[in-house]
Amino acid sequence: MPIPPDMHGDTLPGAPPSMSLRRRLITGGLSALLIATGVVLAYLWGEQTGVRALRQTMAHRLDVYAVGLHSELTRYDYLPGILSLNKDVIALLQSPDDTVMLDRVNRYLHTVNQKAGSSDIYVMNMEGLTLAASNWNAANSFVGKNFSYRPYFTDAVKGLPGRFYGIGTVSQAPGYYFSYGIYRDNLMLGVAALKVDLDKLDDAWLRADERVVVVDENGIVFLTSVPDWKFKALAPLSASTQARLALTRQYHLAGEPGPIGLNEVRVLADDASVVRVAQGTAQGHARLQDPVGGSASSKGASAFIDPLYLAQSRPIPGTGWKLIVLSDMGPIRARARISAISVAFALAFLGISALYIRQRRRAIAQNVAAKEALQRAHDELERKVALRTGDLSNANLHLQTEIAERKRAEVVLKAAMEELVQAGKMAALGQMSAGVTHELNQPLAALRTLSDNAIVLLQRGQTIEVEANLELISDLITRMGKITGQLKKFARKSPAELRPTSVSTVIADAVFLMGQRFREARADLDTSDVPPDMHAYCDANRLEQVFVNLFGNALDSMAQSELRRVTVSARQDGPVVRIAVRDRGAGIAPEHLPRLFEPFFTTKEQGAGLGLGLAISAGIVREFGGSLKARNHPDGGAEFVIQLRSATIEESTDA
Ligand code: ADP
Repeated sequence: MPIPPDMHGDTLPGAPPSMSLRRRLITGGLSALLIATGVVLAYLWGEQTGVRALRQTMAHRLDVYAVGLHSELTRYDYLPGILSLNKDVIALLQSPDDTVMLDRVNRYLHTVNQKAGSSDIYVMNMEGLTLAASNWNAANSFVGKNFSYRPYFTDAVKGLPGRFYGIGTVSQAPGYYFSYGIYRDNLMLGVAALKVDLDKLDDAWLRADERVVVVDENGIVFLTSVPDWKFKALAPLSASTQARLALTRQYHLAGEPGPIGLNEVRVLADDASVVRVAQGTAQGHARLQDPVGGSASSKGASAFIDPLYLAQSRPIPGTGWKLIVLSDMGPIRARARISAISVAFALAFLGISALYIRQRRRAIAQNVAAKEALQRAHDELERKVALRTGDLSNANLHLQTEIAERKRAEVVLKAAMEELVQAGKMAALGQMSAGVTHELNQPLAALRTLSDNAIVLLQRGQTIEVEANLELISDLITRMGKITGQLKKFARKSPAELRPTSVSTVIADAVFLMGQRFREARADLDTSDVPPDMHAYCDANRLEQVFVNLFGNALDSMAQSELRRVTVSARQDGPVVRIAVRDRGAGIAPEHLPRLFEPFFTTKEQGAGLGLGLAISAGIVREFGGSLKARNHPDGGAEFVIQLRSATIEESTDA
């Protein structure tokens, strides 16, 4: 089924849904119209083909029926002529009162009638009075009856061969009448008539599949295979026809013969038409007929359900009659219906196939579109990923450059820190130098005195005293070596090395270096709260530097104090070691507290402090993974707390 081009596409995106509905409705309507047209055409074609074939068959049948009828009608043509040759018949007509002759003619007629197989043979005078008849001795004999009103008599009198079909007025039996004038010396003496029963034709036709009808010139059915149609009219009769029928008493009918209920539906040719036969009449059932134009039902609803017949006719030569054959169109119509249904199925199949192909195409197109959309989305994603990856790579590169720079800065910072630590040491040593000089001058003076004394004692020979002197000299040298050793160790420039370190030892070393300053300041140191076996994770040399700084600041802060005491306490708190250095000075001004660990922050007079001590100390402790904090002690003085990782719990990094 072709689909209009505008029906192929789906509804345009954004088009209102009613458009799609209207299109579908139009498509559906057109398809239905197409199928209906196809079905109707197939039906008409099937019917036409069937009708054509049936007409050919009917033409042959008509030939057969016509030949049968013709032979039946011409079979007795010769008989009236033969009668006119009979001398007795002539004699009777010349002497009608001759009873002997009458008897002989009656018997003769009876014998001929029997031999010929006709119904009746009789002889009339010129007035139409029957003189002799084959049924002369029967109850309803024709003898003495006048038939001058019958057309076959009037025709014969006119010199024409009489041919007439009608119902006998005496016998009441229908029959076909032949008549012929009886002549003597070219003078008509009377009329011979012969009546033949044609009902056996009806009987023969009863067995036929189709309905056979013979109508006379008035349109009245007189021979038929349908008993109910006998003596009924094909169409309503005109008034003149009715009058003529009454005159000739052809069918003995009281009024007009009723119509048989044939309605012409379609004229196919001069001799063929499609007729609707009021139901019942074709089956031979009696039904009430409207005397004018058929029953109401035959014109109403039944007109559509009454069977259709193909009527084909042929005139019978030599008569005004017509032979009509009616063939049921039911089988033809059934076959046409089957053709129509087949076409309907075929069209529906084609339609469904077209729909299927269309749907399939649409599905494939959608699939391709979806794949393309997916590909586009994929490409877009790839593009974005590439873009982001590029950004990320750049960022990564940037980051790596930054990391490298940071690392470089860290190295530089570490180096600077090392330098700073060293500078801090040097500064501390500078501050200690006066005390150290004093510390070394005393043993040096003692060494001079002791060595001078030793010389004098040797000269005197007092060797025992010399020995004691030399032992004292040795002790002094050992003490001086220790002082210079400590100073050397403190001043050594070495990288920080973290390892478990004894807190009390580091404190003792710092105290040793700062001993002279404590003495000068007349300050005392309390380290009794430092457990001797406590270890922290740090570098001993650097932690010593932190304590030297803290002790120096503490001594500075207590310059004006009455009580000059520095208390060092240490305690372990889980993985952490806390070491507090408290002095009894004036404490730290609250506004200085936040800035205490800034490099170059100092409140001391110019030249007295650089402001680097606490900054370096905090840096060192941070290097150990610990912290350095300052606060004012509730009981007065400042307190600095160093927090380090305990060396006994090495796995802990939380300091
Ligand atoms: P400097 O000693 O050269 O001034 P520091 O960094 O060691 O540098 O100290 C910075 C400042 O912190 C000192 O100038 C002082 O004001 C304050 N400070 C340090 N220790 C104490 C303390 N024990 N008591 C009071 N103030 C202190």
